[in-house]
Amino acid sequence: MSLAYTPTTICAIATAPGRGGVGVIRVSGRGLLPFAQAISGGKTPQPRYATYSDFVAADGTAIDNGLMLYFPGPNSFTGEDVLELQGHGGPVVLNMLLSRCLELGARLAEPGEFTKRAFLNDKLDLAQAESVADLIDASSETAAKSALKSLKGAFSHEIHQLVDELITLRMLVEATLDFPDEEIDFLEAADARGKLGGLRARLTQVQATARQGAILREGMHVVLVGQPNVGKSSLLNALAGDDVAIVTDIAGTTRDTLREEIVIDGVPVHVIDTAGLRDTDDVVEKIGIERTWQAVERADLVLVLVDSREGVGAEVSAILAKLPERLPRVFVFNKVDLSGEVPGLAEEDGHPVVRLSARTLAGVELLRAKLLEMIGYRGASEGVFLARERHLDAIRRAAEHLALAETVWQQVELFAEELRLAQHALSEVTGEFTPDDLLGVIFSRFCIGK
Ligand code: GDP
Ligand code: ZN
Repeated sequence: MSLAYTPTTICAIATAPGRGGVGVIRVSGRGLLPFAQAISGGKTPQPRYATYSDFVAADGTAIDNGLMLYFPGPNSFTGEDVLELQGHGGPVVLNMLLSRCLELGARLAEPGEFTKRAFLNDKLDLAQAESVADLIDASSETAAKSALKSLKGAFSHEIHQLVDELITLRMLVEATLDFPDEEIDFLEAADARGKLGGLRARLTQVQATARQGAILREGMHVVLVGQPNVGKSSLLNALAGDDVAIVTDIAGTTRDTLREEIVIDGVPVHVIDTAGLRDTDDVVEKIGIERTWQAVERADLVLVLVDSREGVGAEVSAILAKLPERLPRVFVFNKVDLSGEVPGLAEEDGHPVVRLSARTLAGVELLRAKLLEMIGYRGASEGVFLARERHLDAIRRAAEHLALAETVWQQVELFAEELRLAQHALSEVTGEFTPDDLLGVIFSRFCIGK
């Protein structure tokens, strides 16, 4: 591990801001026993047991009382000594307790600093550390379960196995370099190409699973186009079905009517409503509209909703003309219960067209399946672990090097070099070769206290 750190004691309020029944302050550092004794007025906590205690100020007066948990390193989350103070969950009392921790020599933790220390002390690898944040941020049960799978190391395990196989193959290839005239025979006898083929097949599988995991993490971004009253809200409810719709406040958006969040078969769906894209002089609204356009740029597809009795009108066409043409479109003709059309899926002018009724739900399942198919989601089997774009990118590069290795295998030095590069790329997933600045970016997106 390249990144070193000074093991100063860090502390933070680990529970969410606001009032709650219990508030937790987390402290991590070396040699925390005197710290624990000072804050508890002289108690010596038994490791991994809950100690009920007053939490006291420098003059011995009580600030709060609650439970103290002490996890001596290295058997702790961060690998250092960790102290958890569970007090009352009010902002004033928690801040007094936090000040007391600062007075005792701790400093405020940066976002993600506890997890970063866990990574630097080899308690977690990078993919696992990232899944801590992904678990907290998960917006569907399926995403949360997959994040937990990654946290427990399912993804890292796959990567480690591939890296191990790559190392074995590299040792074989590099050994032949000592026998300049017989290297090809040597490689053939050892079935180096067969081994490479096996590796590539395995990597393809991991790539496919990681892609599913990345879809679960990022979700689907849908631009919704439709006139008032065509049934947009009805359709979103119908699509969400039994899945709990989680409406999240997206930080910074002032007009949250522009966005809605639903979940389809476990996939978070971020809906951008183009109704918000009207012309305006309102400065605040303008900022919201600017954000909406940025979201449109990153969208996966456009969902065009029309009344099946009316078809696509001039106003809808005008909005469509403003949207990037490369975005796939799916047309939905709603209210077939009124128009008398038959629910179903068709292809017209190269676009999928779904006829349905958001009221009777006839045909909604077809749309649901079509949307998932359009983003390449095949359903969360038990094995799906959560992954990020960063991981997909590393895996993609590893696959490219392995493909190249296949073509140059008779030039043994090039062969060896491509294998080395493939291993390097794969190891980025678990963080063996990750630049410090990237680590900084990854951990800075965590919340404080994690
Ligand atoms: P929005 O303004 O686009 O969000 O439209 P709403 O979802 O609020 O729907 C407008 C009206 O159309 C409501 O009265 C809905 O009950 C009705 N509606 C929506 N979808 C259907 C449908 O498929 N069939 C029928 N008969 N009515 C529908
Ligand atoms: Zn609506």
